[in-house]
Amino acid sequence: MDMLLKIFPVNQRFSKSFMTSLFLTLLFACFVSFFYLTVTADRQESIVRLCLVTGIALLYFLMMKTGYIKRYRSIFFISFSVLFIISFVGHLYDARGHMYLSRANISQLETPFCHIVIPMTIVPAALSKTIIFPAKMSGSYASIGSMVGIWLLTIFTIGRGWCSWVCFYGGLDEGFSKIGKKKRWNIDRLKKMRLLPFAVLSFVVLASFLVQSAVYCEWLCPFKTTTEYAQIVDFKSFIATVIFIGLFVTLVIVLPILTRKRTQCGLFCPFGAFQSFFNKSTLYRVQIDKNKCKDCLKCVSGCPTFSLTKKSLEKGKTEITCTRCGSCIDNCPEGAIDYKIAGVPFTQKDDYFNEKDHSKKWKQYIAGKLNEIFDPRVFLISTAFLFGVIISSRFLTDAILRISNLIMNGTMLH
Ligand code: SF4
Ligand code: SF4
Ligand code: SF4
Repeated sequence: MDMLLKIFPVNQRFSKSFMTSLFLTLLFACFVSFFYLTVTADRQESIVRLCLVTGIALLYFLMMKTGYIKRYRSIFFISFSVLFIISFVGHLYDARGHMYLSRANISQLETPFCHIVIPMTIVPAALSKTIIFPAKMSGSYASIGSMVGIWLLTIFTIGRGWCSWVCFYGGLDEGFSKIGKKKRWNIDRLKKMRLLPFAVLSFVVLASFLVQSAVYCEWLCPFKTTTEYAQIVDFKSFIATVIFIGLFVTLVIVLPILTRKRTQCGLFCPFGAFQSFFNKSTLYRVQIDKNKCKDCLKCVSGCPTFSLTKKSLEKGKTEITCTRCGSCIDNCPEGAIDYKIAGVPFTQKDDYFNEKDHSKKWKQYIAGKLNEIFDPRVFLISTAFLFGVIISSRFLTDAILRISNLIMNGTMLH
């Protein structure tokens, strides 16, 4: 038992009972199965899908039972990014025989549309009714319609929680930020830097409107290095590729290792800044109980996206850039931080915890169980994780099948 507690430490303040955790996990697994367990004649694929549902359900159970979030969310988020790249690049080789985008691919609207393009396309679409990105409107997983549809659902629910639970790129800088135990550079002191993504957002939106093309995708996206990039045919495309690689190495690998922060997502990505504006319209928030806070600032230094400051802490709130990652909640030794639902008073966890029933009176027992279930953290984790599951279902299965194909047949292609 001691060994088990060492591997899976429990936060007594937020841990749910075994039965409640099991009940919630089974419910969550039913939703996950709906997206993962599609009918397929392929036995190998069915086994992979079943294993994925089991793994996802296990992570969810651990979040409920241990009362800790960041460790189990990170496992999903980082794995998703790595497997996404394997699947995405595999698809490109299957379909085109190469990773780059040729001029013919672009003119046939074969560029995959990702969420980061959304802020750059909105202004031209609204003012001149033109979609400035060469992608299909519907009919594929990377079409404009499907990506915008999913994004619209998030702006009223998890908001910038997208950046800790859903984005297929975000796990990369998160993964590198977890390498090494020591923070070699305390970047928190550079306070003005947290405004950088808003400057990048303003620049790319304006520039994209003026030149009528997605400037960030053409010149600044570090993730082009791992997914697809325009074919190098001239000096301009060569320079663009050098910029992509330079930004990837700096923002996604080196700075996260040095600072233990998600520097690409916290200091550069325009979509992250854009999505922050919708944090005000969403159902879920992160709140700090000032009565319990002892001003130790562990939450501030541990926030991976610079979303907590001394100033915001004084107000009992996070900055609008909060990605609902759960790190501050896990890090706070006083249990002063937790998720809350907008408009509903912040639950005092101690009161809730005292209500947890250990007596035999069934009415109290049921009240205690309902209290455990109707908890904002259950709703936030379930909603955000489910969004991640929906987006990842195709990629995770495909990537694992490709890896097993590589081991058994020596090729990752289908
Ligand atoms: S900030 Fe950008 S790259 Fe990072 S997780 Fe959010 S959308 Fe993805
Ligand atoms: S970690 Fe908790 S106690 Fe410490 S400053 Fe943050 S909210 Fe306050
Ligand atoms: S404020 Fe807390 S929940 Fe929000 S991003 Fe920072 S550590 Fe994560």
